Amino acid sequence: MPLHPGERGCHYPSRVRIDLHTHSRVSDGTDSPEELVRAAQAAGLDVVALTDHDTADGWAEAAATAAEIGIELVRGMEISTLHQGRSVHLLGYLPDPTYPPLVTELQHVLEGRRHRLPMMVERLRGLGVEITVDDVLAVSPDAAASGRPHVADALVRLGVVADRDEAFDTLLAAGRPGYVGRYATSLDQAIALVAEAGGASVIAHVWGRSTSERPGEAELASLQELGLTGLEVDHQDHDATRRDRLRAIARNLGLVVTGSSDYHGTGKTMHDLGVNTTAPEEYARLIDAAATASAASGRPTPQVIR
Ligand SMILES: [Zn+2]
Ligand SMILES: [Zn+2]
Repeated sequence: MPLHPGERGCHYPSRVRIDLHTHSRVSDGTDSPEELVRAAQAAGLDVVALTDHDTADGWAEAAATAAEIGIELVRGMEISTLHQGRSVHLLGYLPDPTYPPLVTELQHVLEGRRHRLPMMVERLRGLGVEITVDDVLAVSPDAAASGRPHVADALVRLGVVADRDEAFDTLLAAGRPGYVGRYATSLDQAIALVAEAGGASVIAHVWGRSTSERPGEAELASLQELGLTGLEVDHQDHDATRRDRLRAIARNLGLVVTGSSDYHGTGKTMHDLGVNTTAPEEYARLIDAAATASAASGRPTPQVIR
């Protein structure tokens, strides 16, 4: 079935299934990029985006598989940012991964994560948990930088906790005794970098992990002025009420609405591929926004693989 999201005004069959947020082993998922792309096709998806944390390292492998098996691939990344003291994840779609300021910033984030690992291990050892840096590296050989989900996996393997959720709830989440902070880009800067790199940006699970509904509409409007393209509304961390409120804000502001699984392989339950999807017309707007940013910045950005 031909898909041409770059062409304005084209109509999509409503059965097209689009999932724009997934993780491979290059960050904290459990599939290789190739396995992930194959799993996406097996799950009946027509379009999948690979969005590992703070890295484009999985893109080449995913692109080769997508071209081979004939599924549409959007190359993206999920950037760890801070906004007014809160952690915010920003999905960047189709940015030029060689844009030097973006490369530098992602290196900074990944280094922050690498430096944090021995500090977290020390903190846990101080709590009486017999864990070593090597235990964590052993469960994350393909990761661009080993982070908290990998520490959680090591804790599961050591029999300290039953699963990742328990590891975060008892030890690793902010405010828990094993937590160590690290460097994160400011959200404003990340939005600007993605736009300058010719990409489109979407705030992931906007109100997902927070008891408050922040950022609210006024803040989102200012972020839109900086270049924000859309909001991830349909996500497992949002209940029906929050989805409705976020959808209304997106409609008021003219932001793109996405829905995605945030698939992590076996690393996260309830996040199966295609559990949430993005409407074809919203996907077309997202790809148009990236094309517009690319034309404005002059950065040659990666094309969608078809
Ligand atoms: Zn996230
Ligand atoms: Zn994610």
